[in-house]
Order: sequence, then C-alpha cells, then structure tokens
Amino acid sequence: MEFSYINRKYFLEKLANDSFDLLVIGGGITGCGIALDAVLRGLKVALVEKFDFGYGTSSRSTKLIHGGLRYLKQFEFKLVRDVGRERAIVYRNALHAVLPEKMLLPIVEGGSLGKQSSSLGLWIYDLLAGVKKSERRKMLNKHETLLAEPLLKPDKVLGGGLYFEYRTDDSRLVIELAKTAHANGALLLNYAQVNSFIKDAEGKIEGAWVQDNINKDKLFCVRSKIVVNAAGPWVDTLRKEDSSLQGKRLQLTKGVHIVIPYSKLPVRQAVYFDAPDGRMIFAIPRNGITYVGTTDTVYNDDIDYPTTTREDVEYLINAINNMFNGIRLSQNDVVSSWAGLRPLIHEDGKAPSELSRKDEIIESPSGLISIAGGKLTGFRLMAEKIVDLVVKKIRHKEDRTFRKCVTKKFPLRGSNFSNSNEAEKYKQQLLLQFKPLFGEEYVVTIFHRFGSESVRILEEAVSFLKEFDPLEALIFSQLDYCIRNESIYSVADFLVRRTGDLYFNRPATLPLLEKITDYISQKLKLLPHQKDEMLHEISRIYQQAVDFSKQ
Ligand code: FAD
Repeated sequence: MEFSYINRKYFLEKLANDSFDLLVIGGGITGCGIALDAVLRGLKVALVEKFDFGYGTSSRSTKLIHGGLRYLKQFEFKLVRDVGRERAIVYRNALHAVLPEKMLLPIVEGGSLGKQSSSLGLWIYDLLAGVKKSERRKMLNKHETLLAEPLLKPDKVLGGGLYFEYRTDDSRLVIELAKTAHANGALLLNYAQVNSFIKDAEGKIEGAWVQDNINKDKLFCVRSKIVVNAAGPWVDTLRKEDSSLQGKRLQLTKGVHIVIPYSKLPVRQAVYFDAPDGRMIFAIPRNGITYVGTTDTVYNDDIDYPTTTREDVEYLINAINNMFNGIRLSQNDVVSSWAGLRPLIHEDGKAPSELSRKDEIIESPSGLISIAGGKLTGFRLMAEKIVDLVVKKIRHKEDRTFRKCVTKKFPLRGSNFSNSNEAEKYKQQLLLQFKPLFGEEYVVTIFHRFGSESVRILEEAVSFLKEFDPLEALIFSQLDYCIRNESIYSVADFLVRRTGDLYFNRPATLPLLEKITDYISQKLKLLPHQKDEMLHEISRIYQQAVDFSKQ
C-alpha cells in the first residue's frame, strides 16, 4: 500500500481498529528512527505526527551529520564519541542523502581557539569519532588556510584546521526513515495528534486519544502496550498531559539560520568560525546560496511556530561581516531563513549554549517513556536504546521473542547501493542520460533527494516536457512522486520538508505556488476551503522567511 494521503482513510481505520505493541508520538527524526528500529525487530508499530513528518526541529537544524566538535570544550567526551561514531553509520545507510563535507576551522587573532588547542581538539575529535586515517584532520598554515578559503581576512588569520563532517537534508532523512518503516510494516500517519492518554484502573497507559488534524471533528482511540513520547520540543506538553511533569524538564533554546545568495557570500567551502561573542557559527555553501547559523537563545514563546527576529538576523550578519573580507551584508541580503527549537534538558545556572546535547530517557509512573535532548546525528543509537527498553517491558509481561537491532546496517529507502562507489556510478548514469535535458545541478540535486528512486522522477519529468519548461517539469515530477510515495498533504509539506525549495530554490518556486496548490488539490481531491487554506499557509510561510519585523 502506497505511503500516500490517498490511502489516509485506510490508515485511520487501521489505527483505530488494530491494537499495537508500540505507539510512537512524534514524526521527527527521533520518532521515525524508533518506529523503524521497532518494526524491524518484529513489533507491531504505529506512529502519529500532529503536523507533517519532520515539521519540528528535524527540518530546522544546521543539516550536518556531525559529532559536535565544540562539545569537547565542555568535556562531553562520551557525547562526542557516541554521536561521532554514528556519522559513518548514517552515511552508510543513506548514501544518497548524506554527503561528505570538509569543514574549515580558521584560527584567528583573538579567537576562542589557538593553534595548539585546535590541533589537539581536532585530534581528539577524530580519535573519539573513530575517523578513518584518510579522513583525519589536517592542520594548515596561514597561507594554506587562505588558499582553502580566500574570503577570510588575511590580517586576522593565523592558520586553520580541515576536518571531515557530513551534510544532509534533515527532513529528507526523516522521510526516508518513515518510508523505510512503512515499507517494513509500521503504520505512520501525519496530521494526527495525541490529545490525551488512555489509562487502566491502576493508572497505566494503554493507548492514546488521537485527533485527525485534517478532519478536526474526528477523535479516535489507539490501543498500544507501550507509548513512547518522542515529541521533541513538545515532550513536556505530553508529560504534563500524563500528569508526570516532575523532576527533569526541558529548556528550549532557539536556533536561527539565514540564507544569503552565493554571489554575496561566496565562501569556497564550509567554514566553522568564531562569532564576536565567542560562540561558533557555520557558513555552508550549496546550490547557489550560502546558509549561516546558528543562534542559541532561551525560548519561552509559541512552540508550534518559532520565527526569526530582527535581532537574530543582526547577530548572524554581524558575525559574517566581522569574519569575512570585504563582506558588508545587511538584512536586505537575506533571501530566506528558518528557526528551530532545541529540546534540551534544563540545568540550573547554565547559558543556552552550555546546556548538554545528550539525550535523556524519562519513564513516568504511568509507563509513558519520554525521550528528549540528543542530536539528529545520534537518532539511530537513541532508537536502539528506546526499543531495547520497550522490548524489555513487553517481555516482562509476555513470553515473546524479538529480533536483535539491525539498524547499524540497514539501508534506507532510496539508498539501494552496496557502497559509495555504486551510488556514484548510479549518479553518473543519471547525468549521462538526463544532464542534456535538465543540467548537471538539477540532476545531482534530484539524486541527493531521492537516490535510487531518481530515475522514476527524471523519466516522468521527461514526459512532462510536453507541457512544461525543464525546471517546472522537474518540480511537478517530484511533486507527483511525493504525492504518491511521501504522504504529502500540503504545498508546505512539499516545498519546505520534501524538497527544501523554500530555502534553497525560492526564486524558481515562488511564482509557482498557485499552480502547485492546484495540482495537489486536484490529485488529492481536496475541498475548495482546504485548497484556500493551503495557499494561504504557504504564502504566509514564504513571507515569514524574509520578514524580520518581530523584535
Ligand atoms: P522534532 O523534530 O521536533 O519532532 C517532534 C515531532 O513531534 C514534531 O514533528 C511535532 O509536530 C510532533 N508532535 C508534538 N506533539 C505531538 C502530539 N501531541 N501528537 C503527535 N505529534 C506531536 N543535530 C545534528 O545532529 N546536526 C545538526 O546540524 C544540528 N543542528 C541543529 C540546529 C538547530 C538550530 C537546532 C534547533 C537543532 C540542531 N540539531 C542538530 C539537533 C537536532 O535537530 C534535534 O536533536 C532533532 O531534530 C530532534 O528531533 P526530534 O524528533 O526529537 O524532535
């Protein structure tokens, strides 16, 4: 059965009528990772997501698969080791969606790191993260650093370090996980929200009341032996609903990224640099833009809709202008932005950037298992820990056997390649066939989005060339694929979370908003008011990405 809104009625009925071993709340990287691990071990799994898959923090990160070099400064060796070692695993399982990315750490006068401490830090990082020899850090002198990144200020640079990270599209990783879990038998549904819990006479959770967020009058109960709360920044909202919000609590911090046209910030490669206040910031070039982030500020506002303020943009622009030679950016140069919330565990007296990024499992007297904190990169390990616990709990009550965790070597959908050479070969074949029609950049982009599914999309784009120009043909063939295979309901699902075009291809997609809305509405047989709401929503989001009037 296709993972599509077209089958929503069937999924809703199954959710309401079956009973499950595990109900996961939250369709971010954590929840989808748990659903995949659990279904592969033989559990009967359901997952509900109140907005779209990846709606929360998992579409708003820096989009790096990294161990977090800066956590060494806080002596978080275990975190760096655990998450750092996951990088190679995530890469191997998602060869199309995760790309090796060399990162330059410039050493500058008055910066937070000196030559020796940088060299030692990067050496420890490589060691902890188990980086293979060929990819270990390389220290550069001043001349080599400026060759690697000519945009740095020559009078400030003392040297640098090159080290190895990976880049991804966070929400694509989420949807590939969701698709893989679905293909293996899990039932995952977006726009379905847990409102409250169902408990037995002893107060133990045995399911949840779920609201259909598309037909809001529909409320149904989902029965499950175990319920896991993987709701990211909303974890405490659900713990409150469970009446178990005692002890450890979340501290949300907001992180903002801004997008600048590449011509205005032409960094040759990804740079991890000092902001004037001593924090570290990434500048990452890709497809005609450079994105820069992040901020880190305490957040106590609306969790559903975090936004970028003027102050956030000023902070980042100031840091860029301070670091790069001859760059004088202003707010008008920002062509898009995103704001995300880190679901961290509160620690008394600590500043936002000092709060630990490690994950934490909290069990409540009702049996609710909540997971908070953590990194995108560490999702698989977090899922393994959670599912170990779930299996233990079920075994405590029932005589059942489950398969062992297999996610260390389990390619995600779109990554049907035995190794990176094979993935590269597939990409080259795509280029041979489709580059003359669509150009290299677009073919490569499609490959990194959809991997081994790309040929279907590109072939359909060829058939669309009768109606559309090449760029539109590509947009509508992706849209068609996402409608049939990636459970999209709205234009925002497509442009924000399935393609990221809102951030990375804004000029080409902005004029097409109405046409895309029409296409989705027609294919999904939506009502006129749903179509209007959708168009209104996406227009607001496009506007909000460049509106920094909020203080
Ligand atoms: P979320 O992605 O927020 O998912 C939770 C989901 O639960 C949401 O989609 C929400 O809609 C849903 N939900 C909430 N309530 C309900 C309910 N009642 N019913 C149903 N569903 C519900 N990590 C890295 O490894 N690399 C990075 O480069 C990186 N950069 C970052 C930059 C920033 C600015 C931030 C904020 C974080 C960054 N992180 C990074 C951390 C990483 O993004 C997060 O750890 C991760 O995305 C959290 O995922 P999650 O699934 O736990 O939460």
